[in-house]
Amino acid sequence: MGCVTLFNIRTVKLRPGEQFRDARNVDLEPLGLGGQRYVPLPESPEAVLTLTQTSSGLVLELELEVRVVGPCMRCLADAGISLHVGSREYQATSPGESDELTTPYLVDGRLDLSAWAHDAVALALPDKILCRDNCAGLCPVCGRDLNRGPHEHEGEELDPRWAALSDLRDRL
Ligand SMILES: [Zn+2]
Ligand SMILES: [Zn+2]
Repeated sequence: MGCVTLFNIRTVKLRPGEQFRDARNVDLEPLGLGGQRYVPLPESPEAVLTLTQTSSGLVLELELEVRVVGPCMRCLADAGISLHVGSREYQATSPGESDELTTPYLVDGRLDLSAWAHDAVALALPDKILCRDNCAGLCPVCGRDLNRGPHEHEGEELDPRWAALSDLRDRL
């Protein structure tokens, strides 16, 4: 783990209008979402890198398919989602002062495919990762899985700390 897939962009010589395309495996770090950890499957998915030289700069495109697995955000059972991720960056030949004309993933001729793919996958993740669309989650009172045993609780408070307090209040 912790590997970084770099691509030396100086190995590719393109004239305006020319294109370079290559598929390679990109090491991906697990992703954090909603306080949970989601692991990419495979850990090094194959990504297609396309470089297109224009008269003013280089268009960089990355495309990959990956499955991300981790706990359901409602019931903590196994959940996962398959993603098709596409991302596009641009690096001007003479970027001047403008950040918009450079890609942060390209430093000293080395393209950090791992960081780029990680950010692209993170952007593609939905807000919620669930084991199923209609997951009922865990009971907020007793913590049991409401998918397996749908139930409700009578009364307002079952927390034993509250019970002890009201006990005490009764005796005062
Ligand atoms: Zn669930
Ligand atoms: Zn319950």
